[in-house]
Amino acid sequence: MPLRISRKHHDELLKLALAAGNQECCGLLLGRNDRLFDIVSCVNVADNPEQNFELDPVELLSRHKAVRRGGEPIIGYFHSHPNGLARPSETDVAQAVADGRYWLIIAADGVTAWKPLSEGARVIGFESIPILVEG
Ligand SMILES: [Zn+2]
Repeated sequence: MPLRISRKHHDELLKLALAAGNQECCGLLLGRNDRLFDIVSCVNVADNPEQNFELDPVELLSRHKAVRRGGEPIIGYFHSHPNGLARPSETDVAQAVADGRYWLIIAADGVTAWKPLSEGARVIGFESIPILVEG
């Protein structure tokens, strides 16, 4: 089943990646099931933001609180690859949690979608998910 995202959000992701330059931009995907309703850009607090991303834990916590108050659920995460790699890196596999959420990767002027593949609780890779850009 494809992940459905609006043209507006798709273009916003490309702009965020471009604006971050040689650093990885990152953030959260809000929505329901296979439909993206909103994106939340977060500060990348990784030690080496050129090669890695780490969502600001303060922003992450406040978003979890918002969800509990009835806000849109978090259906995934996004980040960019300034090096152009249009698929998850080894680091992404190592960092991923088997939570069934979407990963969007912005690289080489395009957006690709992925979901962690796991054996038990261990993530062993990602599967490619088609994206349907609407509107
Ligand atoms: Zn990555």
